[in-house]
Amino acid sequence: MPQRKTALITGSTSGIGLGMARALANAGFNIMLNGLGDADEIERTRKTLAADSGVDVGFHGADMTRPGEIADLVTTTRERFGSVDVLVNNAGIQHVAAIEEFPVDKWDNIIAINLSSSFHTIHHAVPLMKDAGWGRIINLASAHALVASPYKSAYVAAKHGVAGLTKTVALEVAEHNITCNAICPAYVWTPLVENQIADTARVRGISEDEVKRDVLLAAQPTKSFVTVEEIGEFAAFLASGAARNITGAILPMDGGWTAK
Ligand code: NAD
Repeated sequence: MPQRKTALITGSTSGIGLGMARALANAGFNIMLNGLGDADEIERTRKTLAADSGVDVGFHGADMTRPGEIADLVTTTRERFGSVDVLVNNAGIQHVAAIEEFPVDKWDNIIAINLSSSFHTIHHAVPLMKDAGWGRIINLASAHALVASPYKSAYVAAKHGVAGLTKTVALEVAEHNITCNAICPAYVWTPLVENQIADTARVRGISEDEVKRDVLLAAQPTKSFVTVEEIGEFAAFLASGAARNITGAILPMDGGWTAK
């Protein structure tokens, strides 16, 4: 039997990352989870995912602000599973504030986690993919890789950076059977979105319900949140053989937001 391929997903202890881990596990990939959170809860998630899918599931707690820990994440994944075939750069945080009040430490953290960590994982994973003659890099960007919204300077800058990184890497590895793409969802109902509702209400001086209807879904013609499961299925398709000619693509999954 051929050896199972392995998918490493950063920020997969919750939300979209966990959804993509589930979909990739169901597609037959061994999984390396990563992210922050309560150790017991993460262990329960790891065990459940392994039991539900029948694949081998590991966890590495690398902090995406620390290049040395990110290098160890990639090395440990190869040592444990034999390869890093699919790399999903998903870890991300958000902060909402006007530019003149934007805290410098929040700017630095968002750029480190949402942008620079993808450079570090790709930098270490590409040599392994080149050796294997196959690879898939999927960057979880955002509609904010294509358009801006006020009060999200660091996030929008980081996600536009991810789009540029995606295209550049795709060109560099194109002849090695490695693809690199960015998925760009609009609002997905996850803790990241839920946690910014109160801040957005405060900054804009409106109610939390108004934030959902008039801010979050205002630009989304379908008027519905994207689901974690939909993103998981999309990632699994990009990781499949059928997607070998999709590369360097900045792929909206935004209910028509960026069509306007
Ligand atoms: P989430 O808060 O549920 O998950 C974020 C994950 O990143 C968690 O596993 C968390 O532990 C991990 N993480 C955060 N800081 C980390 C660090 N320093 N080191 C390691 N891991 C860290 O958020 P989510 O909504 O699932 O977001 C996932 C990705 O999707 C992010 O890149 C986000 O920008 C992007 N995105 C989200 C939405 C949305 O509406 N939720 C829309 C578009 C794009």
